[in-house]
Amino acid sequence: MKTILLNPGPVTLSRRVRDAMLRPDLCHREPEFGALQEGLRRKLLAVYASDPERWAPVLLTGSGTAAVEAMLTSLVPSHGRVLIVENGVYGERMTQIARAHGLPHQHVTAAWSAPIELATVERALRSAAFTHIAVVHHETTTGRLNDLDGLAALARTHGARLLIDAVSSFGAEAIRLDDWCVDGCAATANKCLHGVPGAAFVLVRRAALSSTEQRTVYLDLTAHLARQDVGSTPFTHAVQAFYAWDEALDEFAEEGGLWARRALFRTRMGRISERLRACGVAPLLRDDETSCVLRSFRLPPNHGYAALHYRLKQEGFVIYAGQGSLSGDIFRVSAMGDIGEKDLTRLLDAFSTALAEPLGQ
Ligand SMILES: *Cc1c(COP(=O)(O)O)cnc(C)c1O
Repeated sequence: MKTILLNPGPVTLSRRVRDAMLRPDLCHREPEFGALQEGLRRKLLAVYASDPERWAPVLLTGSGTAAVEAMLTSLVPSHGRVLIVENGVYGERMTQIARAHGLPHQHVTAAWSAPIELATVERALRSAAFTHIAVVHHETTTGRLNDLDGLAALARTHGARLLIDAVSSFGAEAIRLDDWCVDGCAATANKCLHGVPGAAFVLVRRAALSSTEQRTVYLDLTAHLARQDVGSTPFTHAVQAFYAWDEALDEFAEEGGLWARRALFRTRMGRISERLRACGVAPLLRDDETSCVLRSFRLPPNHGYAALHYRLKQEGFVIYAGQGSLSGDIFRVSAMGDIGEKDLTRLLDAFSTALAEPLGQ
């Protein structure tokens, strides 16, 4: 039985993306690799129609966290200071990264189930000078889409630039690079773009890279960009993951691009939410607070996560647990990946069956 992944990445692959990994063996020092990389860069810029003179996708081999770490360490200058806004696991991870690298930083926190409080952010911005604000766009911990319009307005007033963890939103949610005063936007191949794990990238504002010094060797975006601009790479890339990514981006464009993908996720998520509601399962957040990519649902009484997960896995579906203090209260379902109509219908029925009987913990 085919397994359908409803966790927030990696995703269920389409046949054509999986098959692309079988393209010919390729050395990363050959011109064919340069062409593959150049194609990927062009296709990534096309997702948000970014101006290639101002923006560059810097490709990395690693998971999404590598891109976030590269963004923070390469874009916050030593004379700079970053304000990290946290309301979930991934916001907290950025603070962990800042600490590990000794980046000048401060963090403000909201509860995981709460929105970012702009008043708190503003107070912090008034208390000290910050060159950057780092924030998670779609906080996958809960499914919340953070209000970047509001945060960007504050950034503009206080002369700061935004660094966005868009790992679980790039390719599905609106990202206004210019309006939001963005310097860097970190994302990955294996979430909304439907590629395989192992490839990630940071979309950087070219002018923003010039003022930083080298903090890491492997994740230094300046060094990567210099080589990628001339068709090369400083290190060996995950060639097969790049093949799959290339195919996934073609598929993305052929299916209609950003707005089509967003509509697909919204429709899917809507149907899942509706069925779960009919089974007595309520979402953690309101519709207008959540991304189209993932939702958190409250575990109903008499249904522990482990039992529900096990039951659905027997039917070929992998749902996702809550993290930390939410682990006993919620489960998460993502709308990403190659999920056919038949699979979706089977999933809805599997939920109905599983939730009709008390499964225990
Ligand atoms: C998935 C994800 C990441 C990266 O996780 P990896 O396991 O390193 O791929 C980072 N931020 C967000 C918001 C995510 O959803």
